[in-house]
Amino acid sequence: MKINPSNVDIIISAVSKEQYPETGLKEVALSGRSNVGKSSFINAICGRKGVARISSKPGKTITLNFYNADNKFVFVDVPGYGYAKQSKTEREKWGAMIEGYLTKRESLSCVVQLVDLRHPPTQDDIMMYDFLKYYELPVIVVATKSDKVPRTKIQKHINVIKRDLEMESEDQIIPFSSVDKQKLPEIMTALENFI
Ligand code: GDP
Repeated sequence: MKINPSNVDIIISAVSKEQYPETGLKEVALSGRSNVGKSSFINAICGRKGVARISSKPGKTITLNFYNADNKFVFVDVPGYGYAKQSKTEREKWGAMIEGYLTKRESLSCVVQLVDLRHPPTQDDIMMYDFLKYYELPVIVVATKSDKVPRTKIQKHINVIKRDLEMESEDQIIPFSSVDKQKLPEIMTALENFI
């Protein structure tokens, strides 16, 4: 699958489910802690720098952002979890919105969960994965910043993530670097299986 970079566009930054777009395309949700490398990942799969992401920083309205990826699928940018500064009210709003979307959206076909390959998953990463599995969603775990881990240690780090997340055998984990983008074909193939 090839995405034409000039055909990637925001459809809507939705504040409520009435605004979720009906495109007839499958949706792939992208989830991860802030700073995990989500923007870089989106730019890598879309083949261009600066896909204008709308960020959900603490204090701002929490939105679900839908992007049309070259009419092949829609990616849904799920606001990052685990902000240290997130208030209880923000966390609750986040929870309600994400839970509603992830549990009720017919067109959602899989979730890409980004984790940092350098470190064991955080409690938030584990909670998120558990949540996705509770609702029986297929997950592709993308372990980011793989260029920062020596080649000989990558498998060891992958094993730690698999173990700590208690990853199900049908879920794939792919180490990825948005600097060298070597594993991009593998990511695209994994996505293709769901769209
Ligand atoms: P986001 O907050 O999850 O959208 O994360 P960003 O994509 O903005 O990345 C956060 C920081 O990590 C930035 O300084 C990026 O340059 C860096 N980063 C993201 N992906 C990679 C990667 O694959 N390798 C390296 N070395 N740095 C990365």
